[in-house]
Amino acid sequence: MRLIPACFTEGGKEGAWPHPCCLRSFVFMAPSSPLADRLEHVRASIDAAARNAGRDPASVTLVAVSKFHPASSIEDAIAAGQRVFGENRVQEAAAKFPPLRQTTPDLRLHLIGGLQTNKARDAVRLADMIESLDRPALADALAHAAEIVGRLPELLIEVNTGDEPQKFGVPREDADAFIRTCRQRFGNKLRGLMCIPPAQEDATPHFQLLRSMAQEHGLPMLSMGMSADYPQAIAQGATMVRVGTAIFGPRPAST
Ligand SMILES: *Cc1c(COP(=O)(O)O)cnc(C)c1O
Repeated sequence: MRLIPACFTEGGKEGAWPHPCCLRSFVFMAPSSPLADRLEHVRASIDAAARNAGRDPASVTLVAVSKFHPASSIEDAIAAGQRVFGENRVQEAAAKFPPLRQTTPDLRLHLIGGLQTNKARDAVRLADMIESLDRPALADALAHAAEIVGRLPELLIEVNTGDEPQKFGVPREDADAFIRTCRQRFGNKLRGLMCIPPAQEDATPHFQLLRSMAQEHGLPMLSMGMSADYPQAIAQGATMVRVGTAIFGPRPAST
């Protein structure tokens, strides 16, 4: 959508150019681009899904998953008003985000991919939130890194709701105990739960399971739903949706 400053339409003495008082809004107008259009479509779908569920659209945070996409695409999304981004790999995030933060200090970076313990220090330095805490060894590494670095990002525990052997995430049967120990260790920095349902199954039961686990433990945040199923996830209470392809288009080949 383009907003036309009022004095454009009035055709006053200034002719084709806006009165200087309008230049400010003119400059901040988001230029229309395919990415901006897709982003706007996703935002509208989030709003609709939230309203259909009787929820406030503001209760759902859009995490734009920019993995494998160049910094220039992230800049386009920033120009269109997006501020929260998700990346899978620490090294890729470390290359792309620090320069972007210089020009956009209110950027937020979520790490959402499986995390190796030897990347814990960089992860703790870089991220505002780590959504993929999934095992005791990683909890140890993050706690240790936080002491050294002097900051601890917000944390979500990733639950492997489908108990898929190839997937990251704490197995269902270990989840309660792991959530409890992380709660003791990290206090309110532990904000909630995340899941990636099995690709070939209906996601709704997985979203419901995650929600009931979060409720049991009094955790406020639920990161669930991707391009294919974020409206479904919002219907089940998602407070964060991680959307990549529907915003940035198909991912370039991984390097
Ligand atoms: C890539 C990825 C996404 C985004 O997936 P799309 O289908 O492109 O929306 C969301 N969450 C995680 C953990 C991912 O790795």
